[in-house]
Amino acid sequence: MPRVFYLSHATPEVYAIIRAAVPAGFELVTLERDDDAERCEKIAGCEVVIVAASPLRRRVIEAAKYLKLVHHQGVGWQDTTDHALLQERGLPLALTPEGTTLGVAEHTVLLMLAVLRLLPHADAELRAGRFHINALRPVSREINGMTIGYIGMGRIAQAVAARLAPFGVHGIFHDPNVPAHAGVVARSFADLLAESDMISLHVPLSPSTRGFIGAAQLACMKHGAYLVNTARGGLIDEAALASALESRHLAGAALDVFETEPVPAGHPLARFRNVVLTPHISAGTCDALSAKMRALFENVQRFYRREPLRNQVF
Ligand code: NAD
Repeated sequence: MPRVFYLSHATPEVYAIIRAAVPAGFELVTLERDDDAERCEKIAGCEVVIVAASPLRRRVIEAAKYLKLVHHQGVGWQDTTDHALLQERGLPLALTPEGTTLGVAEHTVLLMLAVLRLLPHADAELRAGRFHINALRPVSREINGMTIGYIGMGRIAQAVAARLAPFGVHGIFHDPNVPAHAGVVARSFADLLAESDMISLHVPLSPSTRGFIGAAQLACMKHGAYLVNTARGGLIDEAALASALESRHLAGAALDVFETEPVPAGHPLARFRNVVLTPHISAGTCDALSAKMRALFENVQRFYRREPLRNQVF
């Protein structure tokens, strides 16, 4: 019976959702603790590994003597797998855009609207007995009429653009690999920075994109613009973003992903009322997890039937 190892440590409730999707004839192996020694010990007896938030690094791959397939439960493989080593060992890697794309797209729209209305601040203030029926009017905005700049126009950005179109926005994008996409207009990186009222990041984290929104790029953004990131924390220089917010060059930011995760208490961006922060939960709904696991195990079964894998990277 093929054993499938879940690489991230999760709660029993999360394991139960995953277990519900495991087909007959497969066994799911999970961690008791968030511990690399236990990872190495358990992966040693498994043929398939599911990668989620915890990266699949060399030490664990080297312990995986019988590994045949690496399946990411999301799509951001560039920074979460030692892909050079996997390729060297001839191990296939597949992704799970099913569940991931819509979850992230919905969360991106949620963050955009939340930062425009300073929603977490308004909520926290009300709970503390301060009812700001008027105080937020001068800074609260509507998305209607705004130019939204998408950096990266892959699966997720396309789903965000489709969901935002009815809000009456004007969409522009920059993606060297996507020449055109219906409903949005291609721009150079420099023009996108200069024209957007709100920029949303949807590119992988790789050596070429790490820190690519730094002080210089933030300075090129419109005065009063917003920055939204549901892709990867390492894309943005967080210290430079804090400075751009401090100087009020930017009107707000919304982030689901961070340079360092988990985010320690007292993060420099947490002091701004015009910043919305969520703990890497864009694709973290139970709907998304069920959809991902159904699709992932269908692909695992395909692999064992020797059929072509869906969403195979290599
Ligand atoms: P995708 O591969 O479909 O699209 C990524 C796009 O980025 C591609 O079209 C590519 O050409 C483009 N791109 C690459 N480098 C670029 C650059 N320098 N400038 C402009 N465009 C560039 O991926 P996707 O499914 O849309 O996912 C996008 C990213 O979202 C993933 O790589 C992942 O890191 C992130 N993500 C985050 C979460 C979360 O929970 N917050 C969940 C899923 C994915």
